[in-house]
Amino acid sequence: MRTGGALRGAAVTAPARPVIDRRRLSDSALVSIADALESGRRLTEQEALTLFATPDLPGLGHLADSANRAKHGDVVTFAANQHINPTNVCVLRTTCTFCGYARLPKEQGAYRYTLEQVLAEAAHAADGLTREFHIVGGLDMEAGLEYYTTMFRALKANFPHVHIKALTAVEIAHLARIEKMSWRDVLVALRDAGLDTMPGGGAETFSAAVRAQIARKKLAGADYIGVHRTAHGLGIRSNCTLLYGHVETLEDRVAHMAALRSLQDETHGFLAFIPLAYHPDDNALGAQLGRTGTATGGVDDLRMVAVGRLFLDNFAHVKSHWIMVTPFLSQVALHYGVNDLEGTVVREKIYHAVGAHTPQGMTLDQVLALIRGAGKVPAERDSFYNVLRTFPRERQADSGAGSGAEAPA
Ligand code: SF4
Repeated sequence: MRTGGALRGAAVTAPARPVIDRRRLSDSALVSIADALESGRRLTEQEALTLFATPDLPGLGHLADSANRAKHGDVVTFAANQHINPTNVCVLRTTCTFCGYARLPKEQGAYRYTLEQVLAEAAHAADGLTREFHIVGGLDMEAGLEYYTTMFRALKANFPHVHIKALTAVEIAHLARIEKMSWRDVLVALRDAGLDTMPGGGAETFSAAVRAQIARKKLAGADYIGVHRTAHGLGIRSNCTLLYGHVETLEDRVAHMAALRSLQDETHGFLAFIPLAYHPDDNALGAQLGRTGTATGGVDDLRMVAVGRLFLDNFAHVKSHWIMVTPFLSQVALHYGVNDLEGTVVREKIYHAVGAHTPQGMTLDQVLALIRGAGKVPAERDSFYNVLRTFPRERQADSGAGSGAEAPA
């Protein structure tokens, strides 16, 4: 059993300097930020707030696009992965007020997959196209460490070519609590069973005041950071998220990103930053706020990814989650700092449980058309963001595939 480990996957990207055309900036407040970006100076939290506030949305997009192009050129990546949500039973069912996915153990609609059901759902991967299982679920008292180690071993035995990205920091902490183990020991056991990387869900917004309102019993922000720090120390890389568009302030968003940036300075273990737009349908928070439909607007969605790209200078990848903001908005986001797009997602349950009005999956052809339609070059990547194959503009798609995304717990 290994107890520590070097970080796996793509090397940390060296800081890149964007080239900015100041004629495209109509807000003078953006000029000093452009100077900072070109000189390689890190943006302050106040400057991040200035970016959120600027009326010059195209100018903000130009800054973010320039920063993104300096790192990735025209290439936009996607992954062929498949979601498996093994249980929706969750002890926080009544206190995560933004969640419409979880159920209490005896509540109608509650489920917990057997190993056979997990393998049956995973059987889509037999087509050889799926490269990653994305596995998250609820905090289920009956699904302990052995439930997951058995599952991961069986998945690796049946699908040895498929990467396992599984269990949010919140789920790791839950397993540690019910098994009376440390985060580290849980992570070591899961890693030895086959876990490769961790998804970024469960972060919500770190602000204690926000958590008191929308997720009062959930793992605290500092502990989310602590679990990821522990994982990175064991060589397990991870993604991170920010749930926005509910009751948080712009200052809360910036403080949240500052905490992520700080851990990234320390560990370089984060692979991607993924802003997640809140959906108010079919959850208690939406009813309480009197909101329905889409809580965020397109402008806010674009500002969020753009500021993320510019403020998180030590992150290589910013992903747009098309399930939450629509494929069309994700396509525009490719000009606002996003370099990674959800591919196709087989059975996305979590956001459709809270009323996401988007399709549950896209074919490879649809993903390629979306990226090419933005004037970019599509590339399939692995779970560490290594490019596996590119699809030149003139070439047609040659097959259909499965894909990837982030979600609770
Ligand atoms: S967000 Fe996660 S932890 Fe909270 S109720 Fe939903 S599944 Fe459970």
